Amino acid sequence: MDTSRIDTLRAAPVPPAAHLIDGAHRPASDGAVMEVISPLDGTLLTTMPRGTAQDAEAAIAAARRAFDDGRWSDLAPAARKAILLKWADLIEAQALEIAVLGVRDNGTEIGMALKAEPLSAVATIRYYAEAIDKLYGEIAPTAPGTLGLVHRAPVGVVGAIVPWNFPLMIGAWKLGPALAAGCTVVLKPAETASLTLLRIADLALEAGMPPGVLNVVTGEGGVVGAAIAESPQVDALVFTGSGATGRRLLEASARSNLKRVYLELGGKSPNIVFADAPDLDEAAKVSAMGIFRNSGQVCVAGSRLLVDRAIHDVFVEKLARAAEAMKVGDPLDPSTASGAVNSERQLAQNLAFVEEARAQGRTIVTGGHRILEETGGTYMAPTVVTGVAPTDRLAQEEVFGPVLAVLPFDTEKEAIALANGTDFGLAAAVWTADLSRAHRMVRRIRAGVVHVNTYGGADMTVPLGGVGQSGNGHDKSLHAFDKYLDLKTAWIKL
Ligand code: ADP
Repeated sequence: MDTSRIDTLRAAPVPPAAHLIDGAHRPASDGAVMEVISPLDGTLLTTMPRGTAQDAEAAIAAARRAFDDGRWSDLAPAARKAILLKWADLIEAQALEIAVLGVRDNGTEIGMALKAEPLSAVATIRYYAEAIDKLYGEIAPTAPGTLGLVHRAPVGVVGAIVPWNFPLMIGAWKLGPALAAGCTVVLKPAETASLTLLRIADLALEAGMPPGVLNVVTGEGGVVGAAIAESPQVDALVFTGSGATGRRLLEASARSNLKRVYLELGGKSPNIVFADAPDLDEAAKVSAMGIFRNSGQVCVAGSRLLVDRAIHDVFVEKLARAAEAMKVGDPLDPSTASGAVNSERQLAQNLAFVEEARAQGRTIVTGGHRILEETGGTYMAPTVVTGVAPTDRLAQEEVFGPVLAVLPFDTEKEAIALANGTDFGLAAAVWTADLSRAHRMVRRIRAGVVHVNTYGGADMTVPLGGVGQSGNGHDKSLHAFDKYLDLKTAWIKL
């Protein structure tokens, strides 16, 4: 990575941001702004509009007009594809600039951010662009004398509300299939990670996407997000974030127009290590990455380590060493393994979980505290807690920080019961050399994705979605189109 370029970009002033509504940059209707504080050092990075409900409504009206007049949905799929591919090229050409801006905004380590943010968005947009002119409708096997055609029609205006941990990756998981499908979008980025989404939305215009097709409104979730959720003009809502907000979105849909709501919520994903795991050193290293990368701010993070009692002490020791070997600090230093916690608020939440575990008599094997406070940034040491009881808050609730809860098990049956013993069901992993056991576990664990002898890294070809209180619907893969393309039947008497 070009470190001198990173150093130049790190110091570049960031102009005040604006909404993108109907192809134009606009301030908040009342002129209010929010400060964007960098988690790297606590300094003011820039400002952005503190959006109002009127701003959200203006963006929704623009998206509605853009959908209804067909300026996007009536283009040939190959024409949308060409614009989306151009968009991906423009993002790719500025990947490092965008990645550094994102890191200054949300704190993710640059190595991860470059791959997982702009470059992941590029890959996602290309995937859906390339797919859209290869999706066929159906001819139903009706009796002679009738013809049943099944069309796939764009759902209309999509409201997308996304979080701060991977704004571009998760944003593109929604924007890619929605825009390829011919929908128009009102996007609400998170308060602490809006800048890169605004940047790539500008590039969409530059690529030739008509005004009004992609609109971005910044501000508070409870104002801008809520206005999108309540709007009768929005046809579908796609969301990644907390369970509490997810519930509000469902209520808002029920109160307004029954818009479809697709939720990707949190997890308390079990990472299950059996004594017969093929390589315990590798398992420890990957498990540490599986919880501690991006300071644990990953929805699929393996935040519960379920470990065979026979290897508990040995494995915890290896894992603690792997955690301690991870360099935590300046996320713009390419050798950093884990960057800053996104905000003071998140850091305080992480530390409160640790304090509670300490008060309950659990053992903090490593970490457990804030570090690098002198930088002004929000950093936390990777933390491993053992002796956690299945009913502890630390075993049941998502921390969304670099805190690993360790629980022992004696049998496969007990491992499954523990794994399934939360309200969540997003991700899981099983480490074993026994192929039959691996397949049994995949079947029995309630989760959208079960990794075997690895953690994370599942590419675009496979869906990601949760069960239980981890949500519904799927991002990634061709299955993501199901959220944005409705089935529509034509029944024809011949
Ligand atoms: P987190 O706690 O991880 O920040 P949230 O669910 O609060 O998770 O945030 C995810 C996204 O949801 C953000 O873009 C946020 O602004 C938005 N949001 C928060 N509250 C609401 C709400 N009441 N209605 C709609 N969107 C919201």
